[in-house]
Amino acid sequence: MPEQVLVVLNQPSADAPPHIQGARPFEAADPAAPLVRPLDLGLTRGDGIFETISVVHGRPMALDHHLRRFAASAAKLALPAPDVEAWRSAILAAIEELGSVEEASVKTVMTRGVEGDGRPTGWVHASRSPDYGGVRREGIRVITLDRGYRHDVERTSPWLLAGAKTLSYAVNRSVLREAASRGADDVIFVSSDGFVLEGPTSTVLYRLGNRLLTPGTGLGILDGTTQASIFRYAEGRGFETGYAQVRPAELRRAEAIWLVSSVRLAAPVRELDGEEFPVDAELSAGINSYLLELG
Ligand code: PLP
Repeated sequence: MPEQVLVVLNQPSADAPPHIQGARPFEAADPAAPLVRPLDLGLTRGDGIFETISVVHGRPMALDHHLRRFAASAAKLALPAPDVEAWRSAILAAIEELGSVEEASVKTVMTRGVEGDGRPTGWVHASRSPDYGGVRREGIRVITLDRGYRHDVERTSPWLLAGAKTLSYAVNRSVLREAASRGADDVIFVSSDGFVLEGPTSTVLYRLGNRLLTPGTGLGILDGTTQASIFRYAEGRGFETGYAQVRPAELRRAEAIWLVSSVRLAAPVRELDGEEFPVDAELSAGINSYLLELG
């Protein structure tokens, strides 16, 4: 079975011409061969969108939600609308080609294409996932960092594209280096006016008694697919779920916090800003088992 699979779309959007007239909608390609042209705006400007989807035993998790978010990101960037069914077929083909490994991930990427060409570039890359078992059990050390935007940035300044999953993730990587330099593993962003937002690649989730809460959308943060799945699990177990705008001091009063995302799933926070934080081992295990069964 291959370690990785690449599938290239001939026509990522029905609103733009295909790359090759009359060719099949997508083709498998050599993941080691060159694919993207040097003037592709995805490379030169980070002008494009992506999704990362968990795959467990060959089954994609929350695929419809990911495809909806992919289309919503495209709309925010005024990219041609992705042909959702073509993307779905390419994703399923990539998963099938990878074979039934325990845990894998699929990344979908659509860029604005080569400058002046008008045709988006699109591909699907599938690969096996590293083992996140330890992180899911033991937890992660997290620091809070100022994101530099107010909590209402999405409404006041939509051109900043907050809340879209764009290829411009250099900042989301840089904050991890900042965290590492302070002896931490991950980050919770806080708005410039002091509200808890999200991680650089995850949604913040916390438990207060019988309630499982998250900051929710409209704060310039992503509409998390993993958080949505966890809410369904929690509601089935009698938890109340909801959305709340909180400040870091209120978050610290939670009984447990998780950073949740596709692929890594629910990572409990075991240290927050240098102070030990309690891990809810039982609920963490329940959430992660549920997510793994969903796939
Ligand atoms: N927030 C950001 C900024 C992300 O990049 C991600 C995922 O990568 C998430 C939240 C979590 O989203 P999901 O649970 O759909 O993976």
